[in-house]
Amino acid sequence: MEQNEAIILDRDGVLIEDKNYSYKIEDLEILPGVIEGLKLLQAKFLFFIVTNQSGIGMGYYTVKEFQIYNDHLIFLLKKHDIHIQKTFFCPHLKEENCECRKPNPKYLFEIRDGWDIDLKSSWVFGDHPSDIIFGINGGCKTVYMVTGHGEKHLKELESQNIKPNLVSSKFFNAAKRILEISD
Ligand SMILES: [Zn+2]
Repeated sequence: MEQNEAIILDRDGVLIEDKNYSYKIEDLEILPGVIEGLKLLQAKFLFFIVTNQSGIGMGYYTVKEFQIYNDHLIFLLKKHDIHIQKTFFCPHLKEENCECRKPNPKYLFEIRDGWDIDLKSSWVFGDHPSDIIFGINGGCKTVYMVTGHGEKHLKELESQNIKPNLVSSKFFNAAKRILEISD
């Protein structure tokens, strides 16, 4: 039996505009090319969201508010026939040193075990250096998106010698490239 392959997506700054600790549906804005890119990828890959939500730990919004906001995104994607298998989130503050905050790979291993995923032919998308380390920690391929906070942190990638497989400023182009280089 062949294993499944996954695209593991950061949410804020990759799928939707990062408006800093957003939780209100009226602020939810899907980034350009995301729908079209996911449509291309879904013939081959299963989709997951993994997101650090320290806004919960800070008390900016509740788990419930996070879920309503996230469910709305899932609903908008579903209208375009795009299916997200599951959203994994870390509600903790960095200082809590939990196991679920990226770059800890805990959720990647849950995805692997729960959906029979071959992590080495799967891709992690993110706009933070920690997303790339997360992907590397799980043995995945990685795409650094120069959207959201991506531009701001680009220098950290170089100074910390973190090497994503792809760097892209357009979701759709990254999706096309992944299909070209995947077998
Ligand atoms: Zn956590």
